[in-house]
Amino acid sequence: MPIGGGFAKVPGETVEIGGNAFQIFPHNPRQWAARMPSDDDVVRFLRDVKKYELNPEYFMCHSGYLINIASTKDDVWKKSVELLELEMKICAKLGIKYLNIHPGSHLGAGEASGIEKITTALNIVFKKEKTVSILLENVVKKGGNIGYNYAQMRKIIEGCESSDRIGLTFDTCHGYDAGYDVTDPSGIQKLYGEIEREVGINRLKFIHLNDTKNVLGSQKDRHENIGNGNIGLEGFKVFLSNHTFSSIPLILETPGDNLEHAQDIAKVKEIYQSIVYDH
Ligand SMILES: [Zn+2]
Repeated sequence: MPIGGGFAKVPGETVEIGGNAFQIFPHNPRQWAARMPSDDDVVRFLRDVKKYELNPEYFMCHSGYLINIASTKDDVWKKSVELLELEMKICAKLGIKYLNIHPGSHLGAGEASGIEKITTALNIVFKKEKTVSILLENVVKKGGNIGYNYAQMRKIIEGCESSDRIGLTFDTCHGYDAGYDVTDPSGIQKLYGEIEREVGINRLKFIHLNDTKNVLGSQKDRHENIGNGNIGLEGFKVFLSNHTFSSIPLILETPGDNLEHAQDIAKVKEIYQSIVYDH
């Protein structure tokens, strides 16, 4: 959801487009600059959360794009840790429990050193802000990215002292592009099994429900509107037929603004209605 008009507009606009869950940026995601929201904005935000009877368990923030806590460049890493801490404080002030991050890129320094940077950063921010949970989002395998499989997520979690404050977001576009076939029952079982084995399925808190412009295993990461990409309406129907994945809050990160998102939400609701669950 856009935050240009202040955080206070988010609950009302969410309901207006047919949603009951949302993701927002805590600041302009393309800048290092961020500040705490005004008391007035927060009061009006919380009042509308109540007015529209929204469940804060379904709210999440997405970290800024410049942050890279896996970076082996000291200045970038330090700025990233400081901004991540501020983002957590913004989340806390808004009563938002979850902050979603891309684990980061080691930029060629290797997986082990990247994971060490990530765990060091998380151990710092968890001490400075004590309420918000971090969600690790799966990514594609390009540019030294960490987090394209769940063994890497396990290594991050194992390195954190407050590992109970780490959850997961599964992005269907990133997953498909990374080689997880979410359109096929056996692919979905394989994904479920890997998450369960490596970190436990109960860490999975949100789904980023995005279609993809690319083919399975392309390692690209370009989102598409629901039904218009290679996952497609039938693929989402198969994916959402899984009880676990269909019972987790779904967040759209599809192209376009509120109008396109309203159309995507309507499509997702149609998919749900077409599924016949076994019980
Ligand atoms: Zn995502």
